[in-house]
Amino acid sequence: MDNVKKRAAELLKSEAVKVVIGYTMGTNGKPRAAFIQNAEDVDSLIFNAQCVQNLAVYLSKAEIKQLGKPAIVAPLNVLRAIIQLASEMQIQENELIVLGVSPDGELIDFQNFSAIEKYLEDFNMEVDAKEKETLEKISSMSLEERWKFWNEELAECFKCYACRAACPMCYCHKCAVEQNKPQWIPVAAHRLGNLEWHIMRAMHLAGRCVNCDACHEACPKGINLNFLTKLMLNDAQEEFGYTGVTLKEGNLLSTFKTNDQENFIQ
Ligand code: SF4
Ligand code: SF4
Repeated sequence: MDNVKKRAAELLKSEAVKVVIGYTMGTNGKPRAAFIQNAEDVDSLIFNAQCVQNLAVYLSKAEIKQLGKPAIVAPLNVLRAIIQLASEMQIQENELIVLGVSPDGELIDFQNFSAIEKYLEDFNMEVDAKEKETLEKISSMSLEERWKFWNEELAECFKCYACRAACPMCYCHKCAVEQNKPQWIPVAAHRLGNLEWHIMRAMHLAGRCVNCDACHEACPKGINLNFLTKLMLNDAQEEFGYTGVTLKEGNLLSTFKTNDQENFIQ
C-alpha cells in the first residue's frame, strides 16, 4: 500500500489530479470511502479484505466531478466497474487515473483502459463455491418454489435504495422508481411493490452487473438481491454469449446480434 500512497501523493502534489478516491478507516473498524485532496493526507489511505465498497460508484457523481480530475484506488471490483462504465461511454480514459491494487495491496500501474481489460482476462467472474451451490439450488426450483423463495427473500425490503446508491452501474440521474408521471413502480414497500422494484433493477443490470456484491453489502436487511443479478449473469452467458466485462462488446442491453435468442418471447 506504500506505493499506492506514494503515487497518490505525487499526483496530488503535481496537480495531475485534484482528488484521490480511496479507502480509509471508518467507524467500528469498518473501511469507508475517502476523498483525499491534499498530499499530506494520503497516509490515511488503507486497503484490506474489508474494502468491499465499489468506489467506482463515485465516478458518475456530480459532487465528485466538480472537485476536478480524480485518481481512484482500484481493486478488482473497481477495475471491472471502470471498464463497464467506459464501455457504456460514462467515463473517458483521459478523465481519470487508475491506481490499480492487487489483492495484497500492491500498486499496479495501468497505462490505459486496454491494459486494465487485459489484466481482467486473468480473473473470471465466477462466484464462490457456497454461492454457486445456492444459485444452483434456486435455478433448480420449480416456478412456484422460485416465486415463493423470492417473495420471502424480498419481503424484508423497505425500499431505502441503499443498494441502488452503492451500485456503480446505477447511474441514471432519474430512476424509474422515483417517477410518478406515470407511476411505474408502487412507492410502498409491500409484496408486489418490492417484487416490481427488484425485477426492474435486475433487468436493468442484465449483462451489466460486475458481480461486486456492493449492493448486498449496503443492504441494512442483508437481502441477497445480488443473487438476482448473478443469476442474470448466467442467463446472459447462456442465452446471449456474454463473455464478461470488456471494452469491445459494449452493453448487452444496447447491442443486438441477428442470431440473438428470442426464445423468451412467447
Ligand atoms: S448489482 Fe450489485 S453486484 Fe452488480 S454491479 Fe451493482 S452493486 Fe455490484
Ligand atoms: S438496500 Fe435492501 S432494504 Fe434497501 S432497497 Fe435495497 S434491498 Fe431493499
